[in-house]
Amino acid sequence: MILTFRYPVYPTKTQETTLLKWLAHLCELQNSARHDRKVAWETEGEKVSCSEQKNKLTVARKKYADFREVPQDMQACILERTDKAYDGFYSRCEQGTAKKGYPRHRKRIRSMTWKLRKYPKVVQRKTKDTDRKVIKVRQTPIRETAWKHDRLKVPGLGEVKIYMHRPLQGDPKEVTLLKKASGWYAHISCELSDTPKVDPTCAIAVDMGTTHYLTTSEGEKEDNPRWYRQAEGRTRKHAKDLSRKKLGSNRRKKQQQKLALHHERTTNRRKDFIGKLVYKLYHHQKNNVLVAEDLRISNMVKNKHLSKSISDASWATFFKWCGDIVSERDGFHFHQVDPKNTSQTCSCCGQKSPKKLSLAIRTFKCQFCGTVLDRDHNAAINILFKAAAAFRGERWVTTLYETKNKNEARDTGLQETTQLTLFPITSPSL
Ligand SMILES: [Zn+2]
Repeated sequence: MILTFRYPVYPTKTQETTLLKWLAHLCELQNSARHDRKVAWETEGEKVSCSEQKNKLTVARKKYADFREVPQDMQACILERTDKAYDGFYSRCEQGTAKKGYPRHRKRIRSMTWKLRKYPKVVQRKTKDTDRKVIKVRQTPIRETAWKHDRLKVPGLGEVKIYMHRPLQGDPKEVTLLKKASGWYAHISCELSDTPKVDPTCAIAVDMGTTHYLTTSEGEKEDNPRWYRQAEGRTRKHAKDLSRKKLGSNRRKKQQQKLALHHERTTNRRKDFIGKLVYKLYHHQKNNVLVAEDLRISNMVKNKHLSKSISDASWATFFKWCGDIVSERDGFHFHQVDPKNTSQTCSCCGQKSPKKLSLAIRTFKCQFCGTVLDRDHNAAINILFKAAAAFRGERWVTTLYETKNKNEARDTGLQETTQLTLFPITSPSL
């Protein structure tokens, strides 16, 4: 498992000038690498490999002085980044999708990456009795000091102040230095050993929404803070002020900075909320299985009435944090189920509503058994049942009202949803 830790970094004025110069150089390098690949593809239909470009880089470094000023590791990482972007492009071409999407020409880039190498270190000196013992040790990117700020070792630049507000875990492999509106940050990727999965015992399901951020299968609701809508007024003001500043002026630059900072703060608020929410669902409520819907968010944002709210809620980040980060790191389970019919079916008797409920109807009233439940709560319970059925290798069936699906319903028979026991304690894993 790879975890990335983020720390603020404080370069001096001279260091920052150098870093900005490097970023400009790396951007140019990336653009020219992309241009070369594009030309080769369009004229000859050839693919350029990463190693070819790296060889060219070695030649260029011998020839030109400005190439030698920037560390080779960073340049190599930029070429690898281009390679990754073009891998996607080549596969899109092979699949024959309508939109091939060339990797774009960038006006600026904001980050530089370098890998931490392993180097041999002598542990025991050769004496008459013992042999020379050499092991490979990875460079540590951090030099600890007695002061508040430790030092980050940047190749070709020296040491930069870094605030280590939490300890690094695992084996650091890669460092990325990133420029944002609020300053510089170092992202240190570390490799950790995989956490063993715990036995699934206590499960909870969530139904995502826009009026409430989510509803759990216990019936609890989490308010949607709507960060973007909160920030919208201020954004408009900053953008309006920016449009009235003269092009190329110093005041315009300052205003740009203000606007960028405002956007960054909105993002930070959103991330803070999501992080705390995920932690609450797993740790505070002592659940070790979380079930959610597998939503097609890219299709959902095409709805012009909901797109802003959906994008603002950032469900993808929520799912990512639930799945990749928290559940992997702490050994919990995260499961996503197909959202089909979850909000149209009664969670008590399993009958599907004969008429499609529109989004405006917030209470689910069952015509067959008379259950009245909140719409989202009902859906969350259904999601939990669906996951439980999938876990036992069954299919989740709703008694389908429509004639076209009658056969299917008859074949499988109605599942008494109340009889479903969720997760037996002696189960291997989801
Ligand atoms: Zn019912």
